[in-house]
Amino acid sequence: MFYGLGMSLPDSGLSHDEVLERLRSLRGDDARWQDGRTFGLVYDGGPEVHAIAEDAAAMYLHENALNTLAIPSLGQIQREVVGTMAALLHGDDATGFMTSGGTESILMAVKTARERARAERGIERGEIVLTDTAHAAFHKAAHYFGLDVVLVPCADDYRCDVDATADAITDRTVLVVGSAPQYPHGVIDPIEDLARIGAEASANVHVDACMGGFVLPFMERLGEDLPLWDFRVPGVTTISLDVHKLGYAPKGASIILHHSKASRRFQTYTFDDWRGGFYASPSMQGTRSGAPMAAAWAVMHRLGVEGYEQLTRTAIDTARKIQAGVRSIDGITIVGEPQAQILAIQVDDGWEARLDIFAVSEALARRGWYLDRQSNPDALHATVSNGNAPVVDEFLTELADAVAETIGTATDDRDTAYATVD
Ligand SMILES: *Cc1c(COP(=O)(O)O)cnc(C)c1O
Repeated sequence: MFYGLGMSLPDSGLSHDEVLERLRSLRGDDARWQDGRTFGLVYDGGPEVHAIAEDAAAMYLHENALNTLAIPSLGQIQREVVGTMAALLHGDDATGFMTSGGTESILMAVKTARERARAERGIERGEIVLTDTAHAAFHKAAHYFGLDVVLVPCADDYRCDVDATADAITDRTVLVVGSAPQYPHGVIDPIEDLARIGAEASANVHVDACMGGFVLPFMERLGEDLPLWDFRVPGVTTISLDVHKLGYAPKGASIILHHSKASRRFQTYTFDDWRGGFYASPSMQGTRSGAPMAAAWAVMHRLGVEGYEQLTRTAIDTARKIQAGVRSIDGITIVGEPQAQILAIQVDDGWEARLDIFAVSEALARRGWYLDRQSNPDALHATVSNGNAPVVDEFLTELADAVAETIGTATDDRDTAYATVD
C-alpha cells in the first residue's frame, strides 16, 4: 500500500464492484437530499431530469472544452445555453460564457469591471460597492483581483440601501452589485436604482441572479408581479445565473452574461508568446470538463419553457406554504419579505429570551432535516426547490414540534458553516 495524507492507493487495483462498494459506504453520513429534507446544496428536478442529466454527462464525461476547435460541439452547446438565457433576460446584444459555478461567474464579473475601469478610466486599484447581504464570492473576487470592498449595511427590509450605496460611490468605484434575489433572505435588491447610480458613476453594474436567474423569468411568465432586474434595466452590464441551482442541472454549470460583446472582451485572457501555442481563455479554468456543460444543455432542452414553469410553480408554492406555516407557529417568523424560492426563519420579536433558533435547528437535525445556519440575524436558511414539495406538510409539523421541544433551551454551538475548508 502507498499511503499519503491518510489515503491509500492499493498495490493492485480493486474490482469495479469493490470500488463502487467503497464509494457507497463512504456516503453514509451525507445529507439526504433525495428525501427532500435538505433545503439547499442540491436541487432535485425529479427522476426524468436526473435521467437526462446522467446520460448527457456520461456521454461528455471525458470531453475537454479547453479547445472548442477540437471539440466544436461544446462550443455550440455553450453558445446555445448562453444565447437562450441572454434572450430570456432581454439582452438583445448580450453574450457570455458558461462557467463552473456562481463563484466563477462572479469572479469574472469583478475582473471585467476592473479591466474596464483600467482601460476607460485609468483606475489602477478600484473599489467595489457591496451591501452586506451580497454573496461572499464578491469578497473573494476582490481579494483575488486586488480590489477594495466598500461595504454598505443593508436597509431594515434587508434590501440594498440605495442612498447609502450612492454615498459609498467614489471616483474609484468600478462595480456596483445587486442581487435578484440575495442569498441570505431571498429579497430582491432595487436593481433599477442601483443600476442608475452605477451607470452615473461610469461603473459596471452586476446583478447576481445565481439563485433567481432560472426562477424570476418563469415567475414573470406565470403572471407574478416582480420588479425589473434583468437587461431591460439600463445600466446593468453583467448578470450571473446558475444552471446548477434552480436550473436543476448537476453541479459545475453557471452562466456569466455581458450586455455587449465589448464588455465580454474585458473578461477574456489571451497570451501569444508561449512555446505551447496561442492561449485564449474565457475564465478561470484551463482544462474544462464537458460533462456539466452537456448536462446543463440536456436538462434545459428536456424541460423546455413549460418544464421550468412547472418546476417554478412547485418551488414557489412550496416556499409560500412554508412561509405561511412558519408565520403561524408561535415563536418563529420569516426574515423580511422574500419574493421567490428562498426564505430564512428567525425567532419572533419578544421570544428572544425563550427560544434559540439554533437549538431549533438541532432539533430539526435530529429529525433528519438540513437547513444552513446564518447570522445577523440568527436564522435558518431554506432554498426551497421542487424536491422539497412532497414533504412540506411533514416539515411544518416537525418544525412546530422542534420549536415546542426547545422553548426555554439554548445551544452553545453558534457555528454557521456555509462552506468549509477541509
Ligand atoms: C450560490 C450563490 C452564489 C455562488 O455560487 P456557487 O455556484 O456556489 O459558486 C452566488 N450568489 C448567490 C446569490 C448564490 O445563491
